[in-house]
Amino acid sequence: MLRTGVLTEMNDNRVREANFGVIAGAREGDDEVYAFPVNGTADACKDAVQTYGVEKVVDLAVEGAELSSDPETLAKAIADAVRHFELKALLGLNSPRGRDLLARIATILDAPLALDCLKVDLGQGIVTKSHFSGKTLATLKLSGTPLICGIRPNAIRSRPDPREADILPYQASVEGAGRIRVKEVKKAESETIDLTEANIIISGGRPMNSAENFKVLHECADALGGAAVGASRAAVDAGFAPHDMQVGQTGKTVSPQLYIACGISGSIQHFAGMKTAKVIVAVNTDEEAPIFGKCDYGLVGDLFEVVLALTEVLKASS
Ligand SMILES: Cc1cc2nc3c(=O)[nH]c(=O)nc-3n(C[C@H](O)[C@H](O)[C@H](O)COP(=O)(O)OP(=O)(O)OC[C@H]3O[C@@H](n4cnc5c(N)ncnc54)[C@H](O)[C@@H]3O)c2cc1C
Repeated sequence: MLRTGVLTEMNDNRVREANFGVIAGAREGDDEVYAFPVNGTADACKDAVQTYGVEKVVDLAVEGAELSSDPETLAKAIADAVRHFELKALLGLNSPRGRDLLARIATILDAPLALDCLKVDLGQGIVTKSHFSGKTLATLKLSGTPLICGIRPNAIRSRPDPREADILPYQASVEGAGRIRVKEVKKAESETIDLTEANIIISGGRPMNSAENFKVLHECADALGGAAVGASRAAVDAGFAPHDMQVGQTGKTVSPQLYIACGISGSIQHFAGMKTAKVIVAVNTDEEAPIFGKCDYGLVGDLFEVVLALTEVLKASS
Protein backbone atom coordinates (compact mmCIF):
# COMPACT_ATOMS: atom_id res chain seq x y z
CA MET A 1 0.00 0.00 0.00
CA LEU A 2 1.26 3.50 -0.84
CA ARG A 3 1.78 6.00 1.95
CA THR A 4 1.07 9.72 2.04
CA GLY A 5 2.03 12.15 4.79
CA VAL A 6 -0.02 15.09 6.05
CA LEU A 7 1.41 18.00 8.02
CA THR A 8 -1.23 18.47 10.70
CA GLU A 9 -1.26 22.00 12.07
CA MET A 10 -2.36 22.47 15.66
CA ASN A 11 -3.13 25.54 17.76
CA ASP A 12 -3.28 25.29 21.54
CA ASN A 13 -2.80 21.52 21.08
CA ARG A 14 -5.99 21.26 18.97
CA VAL A 15 -5.99 20.18 15.34
CA ARG A 16 -7.14 22.99 13.04
CA GLU A 17 -10.39 21.96 11.28
CA ALA A 18 -9.02 22.79 7.84
CA ASN A 19 -6.57 19.85 8.13
CA PHE A 20 -9.43 17.37 7.75
CA GLY A 21 -9.94 18.35 4.11
CA VAL A 22 -6.21 17.87 3.48
CA ILE A 23 -6.48 14.36 4.94
CA ALA A 24 -9.41 13.67 2.56
CA GLY A 25 -7.12 14.74 -0.33
CA ALA A 26 -4.44 12.34 0.90
CA ARG A 27 -6.95 9.48 1.12
CA GLU A 28 -8.27 9.92 -2.45
CA GLY A 29 -6.09 7.09 -3.73
CA ASP A 30 -6.87 4.98 -0.63
CA ASP A 31 -3.30 5.53 0.57
CA GLU A 32 -2.23 4.86 4.13
CA VAL A 33 -2.07 8.30 5.74
CA TYR A 34 0.72 9.37 8.14
CA ALA A 35 0.02 12.51 10.16
CA PHE A 36 2.86 14.75 11.33
CA PRO A 37 1.62 16.93 14.24
CA VAL A 38 2.94 20.48 13.94
CA ASN A 39 2.85 22.49 17.16
CA GLY A 40 0.96 19.89 19.20
CA THR A 41 1.27 16.47 20.78
CA ALA A 42 0.89 13.16 18.98
CA ASP A 43 -1.81 12.03 21.46
CA ALA A 44 -4.04 15.05 20.87
CA CYS A 45 -3.43 14.80 17.14
CA LYS A 46 -4.32 11.09 17.06
CA ASP A 47 -7.67 11.63 18.84
CA ALA A 48 -8.73 14.16 16.21
CA VAL A 49 -7.35 12.76 12.97
CA GLN A 50 -8.15 9.05 13.30
CA THR A 51 -11.82 9.95 12.78
CA TYR A 52 -10.86 11.12 9.27
CA GLY A 53 -8.92 8.06 8.17
CA VAL A 54 -5.37 8.63 9.45
CA GLU A 55 -3.68 5.35 10.34
CA LYS A 56 -0.32 6.49 11.71
CA VAL A 57 0.63 9.54 13.76
CA VAL A 58 4.38 10.19 13.73
CA ASP A 59 5.70 11.35 17.11
CA LEU A 60 8.77 13.15 15.87
CA ALA A 61 11.74 14.06 18.05
CA VAL A 62 15.25 15.39 17.51
CA GLU A 63 17.76 15.17 20.32
CA GLY A 64 18.38 18.56 21.94
CA ALA A 65 15.87 20.43 19.71
CA GLU A 66 12.55 22.10 20.54
CA LEU A 67 10.74 21.48 17.26
CA SER A 68 7.81 23.85 17.86
CA SER A 69 10.12 26.90 17.86
CA ASP A 70 12.71 25.74 15.33
CA PRO A 71 11.22 25.52 11.80
CA GLU A 72 14.52 24.63 10.14
CA THR A 73 15.14 21.59 12.34
CA LEU A 74 11.47 20.61 12.11
CA ALA A 75 11.62 20.67 8.30
CA LYS A 76 14.81 18.57 8.31
CA ALA A 77 13.26 16.10 10.76
CA ILE A 78 10.09 15.72 8.66
CA ALA A 79 12.17 15.32 5.50
CA ASP A 80 14.15 12.58 7.23
CA ALA A 81 10.91 10.84 8.31
CA VAL A 82 9.44 11.15 4.79
CA ARG A 83 12.50 9.23 3.48
CA HIS A 84 12.39 6.73 6.35
CA PHE A 85 8.68 5.89 5.91
CA GLU A 86 9.04 6.01 2.10
CA LEU A 87 6.13 8.40 1.64
CA LYS A 88 5.16 9.05 -1.97
CA ALA A 89 3.63 12.45 -1.16
CA LEU A 90 3.39 15.03 1.60
CA LEU A 91 0.41 17.38 1.82
CA GLY A 92 -0.20 20.32 4.12
CA LEU A 93 -2.31 23.43 4.46
CA ASN A 94 -1.49 26.37 2.22
CA SER A 95 -1.25 28.51 5.36
CA PRO A 96 1.74 30.72 6.27
CA ARG A 97 3.20 27.95 8.43
CA GLY A 98 2.36 25.24 5.88
CA ARG A 99 3.94 27.16 2.99
CA ASP A 100 7.08 27.80 5.02
CA LEU A 101 7.53 24.15 6.04
CA LEU A 102 6.54 22.57 2.73
CA ALA A 103 8.96 24.77 0.77
CA ARG A 104 11.81 23.92 3.16
CA ILE A 105 11.03 20.19 2.98
CA ALA A 106 10.78 20.24 -0.84
CA THR A 107 14.19 21.94 -1.00
CA ILE A 108 15.80 19.41 1.35
CA LEU A 109 14.33 16.48 -0.60
CA ASP A 110 14.81 18.13 -4.03
CA ALA A 111 11.13 17.27 -4.60
CA PRO A 112 8.43 18.92 -6.78
CA LEU A 113 6.38 21.53 -4.90
CA ALA A 114 2.92 22.90 -5.78
CA LEU A 115 1.25 25.46 -3.51
CA ASP A 116 -2.33 26.76 -3.34
CA CYS A 117 -3.73 23.52 -4.82
CA LEU A 118 -7.50 23.18 -5.15
CA LYS A 119 -7.46 19.54 -6.28
CA VAL A 120 -4.90 16.75 -6.20
CA ASP A 121 -4.76 13.43 -7.99
CA LEU A 122 -1.82 11.78 -6.24
CA GLY A 123 -2.07 8.61 -8.34
CA GLN A 124 -1.50 10.58 -11.55
CA GLY A 125 0.68 13.27 -9.95
CA ILE A 126 -1.70 15.95 -11.24
CA VAL A 127 -2.72 19.06 -9.31
CA THR A 128 -5.02 21.98 -10.07
CA LYS A 129 -3.75 25.21 -8.61
CA SER A 130 -4.46 28.89 -8.58
CA HIS A 131 -2.18 31.02 -10.78
CA PHE A 132 -1.52 34.75 -11.24
CA SER A 133 -3.25 35.81 -8.02
CA GLY A 134 -6.26 33.64 -8.74
CA LYS A 135 -6.90 34.98 -12.27
CA THR A 136 -6.38 31.54 -13.83
CA LEU A 137 -6.31 27.92 -12.75
CA ALA A 138 -3.47 25.68 -13.91
CA THR A 139 -3.49 21.90 -14.12
CA LEU A 140 0.05 20.66 -13.62
CA LYS A 141 1.63 17.25 -13.93
CA LEU A 142 4.38 16.93 -11.34
CA SER A 143 7.27 14.57 -11.85
CA GLY A 144 9.56 13.17 -9.17
CA THR A 145 8.86 11.97 -5.65
CA PRO A 146 7.70 12.70 -3.12
CA LEU A 147 5.08 15.17 -4.36
CA ILE A 148 4.83 18.11 -1.96
CA CYS A 149 1.53 20.01 -2.10
CA GLY A 150 -0.01 22.87 -0.15
CA ILE A 151 -3.80 22.64 -0.21
CA ARG A 152 -5.98 25.74 0.01
CA PRO A 153 -7.99 25.52 3.28
CA ASN A 154 -11.54 24.21 2.65
CA ALA A 155 -10.83 23.51 -1.05
CA ILE A 156 -11.29 19.78 -0.41
CA ARG A 157 -14.27 18.68 1.68
CA SER A 158 -13.47 16.66 4.78
CA ARG A 159 -14.88 13.12 4.97
CA PRO A 160 -15.20 11.19 8.23
CA ASP A 161 -13.62 7.73 7.93
CA PRO A 162 -13.11 6.44 11.49
CA ARG A 163 -10.30 4.05 12.36
CA GLU A 164 -7.87 3.34 15.19
CA ALA A 165 -4.56 5.13 14.55
CA ASP A 166 -1.17 4.05 15.92
CA ILE A 167 1.43 6.46 17.26
CA LEU A 168 4.86 5.86 15.72
CA PRO A 169 7.71 7.40 17.75
CA TYR A 170 10.50 8.49 15.38
CA GLN A 171 13.85 9.92 16.41
CA ALA A 172 15.05 11.87 13.36
CA SER A 173 18.71 12.30 12.64
CA VAL A 174 19.37 15.96 11.94
CA GLU A 175 22.79 17.54 11.70
CA GLY A 176 23.50 21.05 12.96
CA ALA A 177 21.24 23.37 14.96
CA GLY A 178 18.54 25.42 13.23
CA ARG A 179 19.38 29.13 12.79
CA ILE A 180 15.85 30.43 13.36
CA ARG A 181 13.99 30.59 16.68
CA VAL A 182 10.31 31.54 16.93
CA LYS A 183 10.23 33.57 20.14
CA GLU A 184 6.61 34.69 20.27
CA VAL A 185 3.38 34.15 18.36
CA LYS A 186 0.96 37.07 18.51
CA LYS A 187 -2.75 36.43 18.15
CA ALA A 188 -4.55 38.21 15.31
CA GLU A 189 -6.28 41.50 16.10
CA SER A 190 -9.76 40.28 15.23
CA GLU A 191 -11.35 37.84 17.60
CA THR A 192 -13.60 36.12 15.12
CA ILE A 193 -13.13 32.70 13.53
CA ASP A 194 -10.15 32.40 11.19
CA LEU A 195 -11.38 33.46 7.75
CA THR A 196 -9.46 30.75 5.93
CA GLU A 197 -11.28 28.04 7.89
CA ALA A 198 -14.78 29.51 7.98
CA ASN A 199 -17.69 27.77 6.28
CA ILE A 200 -19.63 31.02 6.02
CA ILE A 201 -18.16 34.52 5.59
CA ILE A 202 -20.00 37.83 5.52
CA SER A 203 -17.79 40.69 4.29
CA GLY A 204 -18.19 44.44 4.17
CA GLY A 205 -16.78 47.01 1.74
CA ARG A 206 -16.16 50.75 1.64
CA PRO A 207 -19.81 51.74 2.42
CA MET A 208 -19.51 50.20 5.89
CA ASN A 209 -18.22 53.71 6.63
CA SER A 210 -16.85 53.02 10.13
CA ALA A 211 -15.42 50.30 12.35
CA GLU A 212 -18.50 50.69 14.54
CA ASN A 213 -20.80 49.71 11.66
CA PHE A 214 -19.01 46.35 11.31
CA LYS A 215 -21.00 45.35 14.44
CA VAL A 216 -23.97 44.87 12.09
CA LEU A 217 -22.01 42.19 10.22
CA HIS A 218 -20.75 40.56 13.43
CA GLU A 219 -24.33 40.26 14.72
CA CYS A 220 -25.45 38.71 11.46
CA ALA A 221 -22.42 36.37 11.55
CA ASP A 222 -23.48 35.17 15.02
CA ALA A 223 -27.06 34.66 13.83
CA LEU A 224 -25.71 32.62 10.91
CA GLY A 225 -24.33 30.17 13.47
CA GLY A 226 -20.77 31.38 13.89
CA ALA A 227 -19.80 32.81 10.52
CA ALA A 228 -16.59 34.83 10.09
CA VAL A 229 -16.50 38.50 9.13
CA GLY A 230 -14.28 39.74 6.28
CA ALA A 231 -13.59 43.06 4.60
CA SER A 232 -12.51 44.53 1.29
CA ARG A 233 -9.21 46.38 1.02
CA ALA A 234 -11.04 49.69 0.72
CA ALA A 235 -12.65 49.06 4.13
CA VAL A 236 -9.30 47.99 5.62
CA ASP A 237 -7.38 50.94 4.13
CA ALA A 238 -10.00 53.29 5.55
CA GLY A 239 -9.35 51.83 9.03
CA PHE A 240 -12.81 50.25 9.39
CA ALA A 241 -11.37 46.72 9.84
CA PRO A 242 -7.94 45.22 10.67
CA HIS A 243 -5.77 43.80 7.90
CA ASP A 244 -6.26 40.20 9.06
CA MET A 245 -9.90 40.54 7.95
CA GLN A 246 -8.98 41.51 4.37
CA VAL A 247 -10.03 39.13 1.62
CA GLY A 248 -8.33 39.28 -1.75
CA GLN A 249 -5.11 39.32 -3.67
CA THR A 250 -3.20 41.13 -0.90
CA GLY A 251 -5.36 39.70 1.88
CA LYS A 252 -6.58 36.20 2.63
CA THR A 253 -7.69 33.57 0.16
CA VAL A 254 -10.88 31.90 1.34
CA SER A 255 -13.02 28.99 0.19
CA PRO A 256 -16.17 28.97 2.34
CA GLN A 257 -19.43 27.23 1.48
CA LEU A 258 -21.16 30.63 1.47
CA TYR A 259 -19.68 34.11 0.90
CA ILE A 260 -21.91 37.15 1.41
CA ALA A 261 -20.39 40.34 -0.07
CA CYS A 262 -22.03 43.48 1.32
CA GLY A 263 -21.27 46.76 -0.46
CA ILE A 264 -18.33 45.28 -2.34
CA SER A 265 -17.97 46.27 -5.99
CA GLY A 266 -16.32 43.03 -7.15
CA SER A 267 -12.84 44.12 -8.21
CA ILE A 268 -10.59 41.42 -9.67
CA GLN A 269 -8.33 41.79 -6.65
CA HIS A 270 -11.16 41.05 -4.21
CA PHE A 271 -12.54 38.29 -6.41
CA ALA A 272 -9.09 36.63 -6.53
CA GLY A 273 -9.46 35.91 -2.81
CA MET A 274 -12.98 34.48 -2.73
CA LYS A 275 -13.89 33.13 -6.14
CA THR A 276 -13.64 29.50 -5.02
CA ALA A 277 -16.46 30.03 -2.50
CA LYS A 278 -19.17 27.47 -3.28
CA VAL A 279 -22.01 30.02 -3.23
CA ILE A 280 -21.52 33.79 -3.56
CA VAL A 281 -24.27 36.22 -2.56
CA ALA A 282 -23.90 39.95 -3.27
CA VAL A 283 -25.77 42.89 -1.77
CA ASN A 284 -25.21 46.18 -3.59
CA THR A 285 -27.20 49.35 -4.28
CA ASP A 286 -25.87 49.57 -7.84
CA GLU A 287 -27.44 47.02 -10.14
CA GLU A 288 -24.56 47.57 -12.59
CA ALA A 289 -21.89 46.66 -9.98
CA PRO A 290 -19.42 44.09 -11.39
CA ILE A 291 -20.03 41.76 -8.44
CA PHE A 292 -23.47 40.95 -9.91
CA GLY A 293 -21.75 39.36 -12.90
CA LYS A 294 -19.79 37.05 -10.60
CA CYS A 295 -22.25 35.94 -7.92
CA ASP A 296 -24.78 33.12 -7.64
CA TYR A 297 -27.43 35.32 -6.00
CA GLY A 298 -27.61 39.11 -6.14
CA LEU A 299 -29.72 41.50 -4.10
CA VAL A 300 -30.04 45.14 -5.18
CA GLY A 301 -30.46 47.12 -1.97
CA ASP A 302 -28.88 48.93 0.92
CA LEU A 303 -26.59 46.60 2.84
CA PHE A 304 -27.64 47.91 6.25
CA GLU A 305 -31.33 47.28 5.54
CA VAL A 306 -30.68 43.85 4.03
CA VAL A 307 -28.27 42.65 6.73
CA LEU A 308 -30.49 43.85 9.59
CA ALA A 309 -33.51 42.14 8.04
CA LEU A 310 -31.53 38.92 7.51
CA THR A 311 -30.30 38.97 11.13
CA GLU A 312 -33.86 39.43 12.40
CA VAL A 313 -35.18 36.55 10.30
CA LEU A 314 -32.34 34.27 11.40
CA LYS A 315 -32.85 35.15 15.06
CA ALA A 316 -36.59 34.61 14.79
CA SER A 317 -36.15 31.20 13.20
CA SER A 318 -33.53 29.93 15.66
C1 LIG B 1 -2.23 45.48 -6.28
C2 LIG B 1 -3.62 45.60 -5.69
C3 LIG B 1 -4.02 44.68 -4.74
C4 LIG B 1 -5.30 44.76 -4.20
N1 LIG B 1 -5.70 43.83 -3.27
C5 LIG B 1 -6.96 43.85 -2.82
C6 LIG B 1 -7.44 42.86 -1.90
O1 LIG B 1 -6.69 42.00 -1.45
N2 LIG B 1 -8.73 42.91 -1.52
C7 LIG B 1 -9.60 43.86 -1.96
O2 LIG B 1 -10.78 43.85 -1.56
N3 LIG B 1 -9.18 44.82 -2.80
C8 LIG B 1 -7.88 44.85 -3.22
N4 LIG B 1 -7.47 45.84 -4.04
C9 LIG B 1 -8.36 47.01 -4.26
C10 LIG B 1 -9.42 46.78 -5.30
O3 LIG B 1 -8.92 47.12 -6.58
C11 LIG B 1 -10.66 47.65 -5.00
O4 LIG B 1 -10.25 48.99 -4.93
C12 LIG B 1 -11.37 47.30 -3.70
O5 LIG B 1 -11.63 45.92 -3.67
C13 LIG B 1 -12.68 48.08 -3.64
O6 LIG B 1 -13.30 47.84 -2.41
P1 LIG B 1 -14.87 47.97 -2.28
O7 LIG B 1 -15.53 47.07 -3.26
O8 LIG B 1 -15.20 47.82 -0.83
O9 LIG B 1 -15.11 49.51 -2.60
P2 LIG B 1 -15.75 50.23 -3.88
O10 LIG B 1 -15.05 49.83 -5.12
O11 LIG B 1 -15.81 51.67 -3.53
O12 LIG B 1 -17.21 49.61 -3.98
C14 LIG B 1 -18.22 49.87 -3.04
C15 LIG B 1 -19.49 49.23 -3.57
O13 LIG B 1 -20.49 49.37 -2.59
C16 LIG B 1 -21.72 49.75 -3.25
N5 LIG B 1 -22.51 50.45 -2.24
C17 LIG B 1 -22.40 51.74 -1.85
N6 LIG B 1 -23.25 52.00 -0.83
C18 LIG B 1 -23.90 50.84 -0.57
C19 LIG B 1 -24.86 50.45 0.40
N7 LIG B 1 -25.33 51.30 1.33
N8 LIG B 1 -25.31 49.17 0.38
C20 LIG B 1 -24.86 48.28 -0.55
N9 LIG B 1 -23.95 48.62 -1.49
C21 LIG B 1 -23.44 49.86 -1.48
C22 LIG B 1 -21.31 50.54 -4.44
O14 LIG B 1 -22.29 50.46 -5.44
C23 LIG B 1 -20.01 49.85 -4.86
O15 LIG B 1 -20.26 48.81 -5.79
C24 LIG B 1 -6.18 45.78 -4.60
C25 LIG B 1 -5.78 46.69 -5.57
C26 LIG B 1 -4.50 46.62 -6.11
C27 LIG B 1 -4.08 47.61 -7.16
